[in-house]
Amino acid sequence: MSSERDLGEDDRSRIESLVDRLSLEEKCALLVGDSAFTVAGCERLDIPGWRLSDGPVGVRGMSAGNSLLFPCETALGATWDTGLMGEVGVALGLEAIDRHVDVLLGPTINLHRSPLGGRHFECFSEDPTLTAELAVAYVEGVQSVGVAACAKHLVCNDQEHERRTIDVQIDEQTLREVYLRPFEAAVRTGKVRTVMAAYNYVNGDHCTAHPFLLEEVLKGEWGFDGVVVSDWGAVKATVPPARHGLDLEMPGPGVWWGDGQLFDAVRDGEVPEGAIDDKVRRVLGLLEWRGRLPGTTVEDEEAAEERPAHRRLARRAATDSMVLVKNDGLLPLPPASSVALIGSGVARTALLGGGSASLEPYRRVDLLEAFTARWDGEVTHAVGVDLHRSCPTIPFHWLEGPVRIEWIDGLDLDGEPVLVEERLAVSNAWFAESIPFKGRGSLRLSFTFRPDRGGPARVMGAGFGPARLLVDDELVTDNEVDGFVAGLGLRGGVASVELEAGRLYSATLAAWSHPSDSTPFFYVDVGVAFEGTQDAQQLADEAVTTAAAADIAVVVVGTNSEWEAEDRDRESLALPMDQDELVRRVARANPRTVVVLNVGSPASLPWLDEVSAVLVAWYPGQEGGAAITDVLVGDAEPSGRMPTTWPHELGDTPSYQWYPGAGGVEPYGEGTLVGHRWYETHGIEPLLAFGHGGSYTTFEWGPPLLSGDRADVKVQVPVRNTGDRSGAEVVQVYLGRRDSTSARATRLAGFAKVRLAPGESAVASVVLDERSFSTYDVAARRWHVPSGPFDIVVAASAVDHRATLSHVVRE
Ligand code: BGC
Repeated sequence: MSSERDLGEDDRSRIESLVDRLSLEEKCALLVGDSAFTVAGCERLDIPGWRLSDGPVGVRGMSAGNSLLFPCETALGATWDTGLMGEVGVALGLEAIDRHVDVLLGPTINLHRSPLGGRHFECFSEDPTLTAELAVAYVEGVQSVGVAACAKHLVCNDQEHERRTIDVQIDEQTLREVYLRPFEAAVRTGKVRTVMAAYNYVNGDHCTAHPFLLEEVLKGEWGFDGVVVSDWGAVKATVPPARHGLDLEMPGPGVWWGDGQLFDAVRDGEVPEGAIDDKVRRVLGLLEWRGRLPGTTVEDEEAAEERPAHRRLARRAATDSMVLVKNDGLLPLPPASSVALIGSGVARTALLGGGSASLEPYRRVDLLEAFTARWDGEVTHAVGVDLHRSCPTIPFHWLEGPVRIEWIDGLDLDGEPVLVEERLAVSNAWFAESIPFKGRGSLRLSFTFRPDRGGPARVMGAGFGPARLLVDDELVTDNEVDGFVAGLGLRGGVASVELEAGRLYSATLAAWSHPSDSTPFFYVDVGVAFEGTQDAQQLADEAVTTAAAADIAVVVVGTNSEWEAEDRDRESLALPMDQDELVRRVARANPRTVVVLNVGSPASLPWLDEVSAVLVAWYPGQEGGAAITDVLVGDAEPSGRMPTTWPHELGDTPSYQWYPGAGGVEPYGEGTLVGHRWYETHGIEPLLAFGHGGSYTTFEWGPPLLSGDRADVKVQVPVRNTGDRSGAEVVQVYLGRRDSTSARATRLAGFAKVRLAPGESAVASVVLDERSFSTYDVAARRWHVPSGPFDIVVAASAVDHRATLSHVVRE
């Protein structure tokens, strides 16, 4: 089975016969989830239930057991390698089969618009072409083993700030050429079987009920015949989504389509039955494509067997994604020197950002363990900084008496409780029927505790929506003020307190429904941590002393899933907890300092000139520590290139003037000038250019050759490895219209990665087609290739142009 598989006559007639035999009630039940990640079938007609799972760089499965974890999507974007992406896709598909998953919820193909976006790590790139090519490779890989991929989130879901309510105002040319481009490629070229409609609004319409996006463009122009699934809890009404393109409400039980509501809307004539039949055909078409009709059921038992080949692939994907930003020759590290490993990412390497993409990997390889095992010389270590934010739940043995929960039907906490219950633990979650009201409400959780330890501590009060924690009647945390995102998107507030061992405290957590997610879900947690309260100065001083005593210092700085996560954007480009100062001090103490950036998003690097080498290692997935070691010691080449421009400052970025919007509206005012196009047009020098990345070897580029005509050309670039190590070079081709005043910036039109042994030569070939040359003419409602002279720029990055060829497109 492959993504190419089209449904045949027999398949279609089986689907039609099922549609004829299903009652309206049964049809409606096929269009709503029946649990967080499952959809029920129809036993009477042998239609099986089916499963969806996050995604996108591992497969969490239903039991949330351990899974293979690949590098984050930004890292995969930095590989600029569609072949590798395809291999990763196949591996993800096989992992999904192990877990009986029908739909893997990836790839995420929104763009890096603001560097502050909380899900930046979860998207490939700022560039529509790079994203589109990787999206196709991902989808084809996953679907080649018969598992459906899901292109998400359609569309302009590029920030977390007000993500469920923000209305993106965007002109149609930009929408088509930039933000829809990866989705179009995933649908038309990749033949993706499912698409997820986003949380936000675009030009006034909600993405789950969008006549233009879902009906006209996706299902109309692009001929998408798969399933449009809502983002989790995104649906805001019964009728408009049913009429305007949504096929499946998730999660279950459906808040708007469940409980007979969709059925009633059809019976009352508000939704035509034909629309329901179309949705049902799509769902059945997906099951048919999966080979699950008629009625194959699957066991609940999920296989979780790590394949050695996948482990190796995860490690190679990580090394191939690493970008050597700077190297004065210190890397690869000279053998047998003593190395001080500094930073919080050493003993606990951040493998992925936070939110729905999170999963428990089969194993986690941290840098400390991997490097120490590989290095012949002496290795020392100092943590330097503590990046923890969340706190473990208050343990049972601190509790005095039960935990009392008062449910209030409404948002006013002074209201009379409709139900009072008692629990034994502080951390609790309630879903659907276990919540004693429909719609929004609140709860008060109260208990007393006696800590068995004292001293400076951090406390955390967490909820799914707003949550405030009072200790001894004093407000301590408010997750809307001092918050961060933890786990799968749960929002914690955190504060520092002084606790006395053996003293009795009273605690009350007030928690409200999520203001804009209609999923019937409540979650509460109260935690305390004594770690992470050490004196920051002392930690940094220890690190500096350790660094000074070694031949070489390797400082791993960055963020983790508590700083970069779904549901919350970052506040600044600066590395948290004064890590910039830590790097500076280490570099002053040891002139041979390497910085490894363990991040998912751009960071400002104010110390760039003060260190010997900088390697961007991203969130490298489960094999992360081994892969970083491979590159540091020279067992592997860092062959990544920046998938996104890193700015000197926030004010330089294309979306700066408009992000994060005002009054619930966000104009995409930079239009088509996204990413590197903006910097080029406005003459802004980037900190790290799009496409930039060094190597341990050297390459020589020969004169490029152009063949073909009109809008169908091939660019061939001879490349030779002139160094004494293997390496990979990425040849990038940008296109610009020479006579255009409005669109002077060049845009990425294609790329090719070539791997070469020392002394070896190869020809990198990049094919440009109609679409590479086209722009979208809104008035004429069509793509067209403007005639006239084009510059075809052969480059090693958006600012490192090696040759410019002229090409004239004639009418
Ligand atoms: C995310 C999706 C994810 C879904 C299910 C949502 O919060 O936006 O990307 O697939 O949850 O976990």
